[in-house]
Amino acid sequence: MNQRMGERLLAQHKMNSDEKDNISCKKHCPIHEYSHLQEFIDNLPYVIMILLGAAIFFTSIKSVIPTGLYILYGIVGAFWIIIFVCPYCHYYSTRVCPCGYGQIAAKFRKKKDDILFVEKFKKNIPVIIPLWIAPIVAGGVSLKLDFSIWMLALIILFAIDSFVILPLLSTKYGCAHCPQKDTCPWMRHKS
Ligand code: SF4
Repeated sequence: MNQRMGERLLAQHKMNSDEKDNISCKKHCPIHEYSHLQEFIDNLPYVIMILLGAAIFFTSIKSVIPTGLYILYGIVGAFWIIIFVCPYCHYYSTRVCPCGYGQIAAKFRKKKDDILFVEKFKKNIPVIIPLWIAPIVAGGVSLKLDFSIWMLALIILFAIDSFVILPLLSTKYGCAHCPQKDTCPWMRHKS
């Protein structure tokens, strides 16, 4: 963990603890470093979403090219966030980032100004939104043309993972104690 960043976060947490009336996170959990197992758990719904999406493409279009492109898009999308959003986050280069992206970001880019986090988040999140939509569209068209119970099951599993489990895990676990959740466009309306 970047020592200066860690000291800064701990100091910020202590300051917040001294001002409990102003704390917006009702859980009062201490800032702590995440283990590799916790980082793995945090990434799991995204990985499952990409695998299920790829399975939908493969089953519907029956070609490895769109399937491979979707998997590639999933990998590039993760690195897009790592490179263009994480350098602006409080958790950059620390083990306090729940999914480990913050540490990977430090290998590619220098720390940027936290004040630009919201702007960078809003600008870059749309880049990965089609990952949630494209498999539903491909699967839906396939169902309409040639109904299959397996395709229906894949679409339902994809929807549960990407629209229920993934957001639930990030709002209740990953992002629940982030110091910038009150200004983050993702968390602002959920906390
Ligand atoms: S908390 Fe989110 S924005 Fe911050 S470093 Fe981790 S993945 Fe990036």
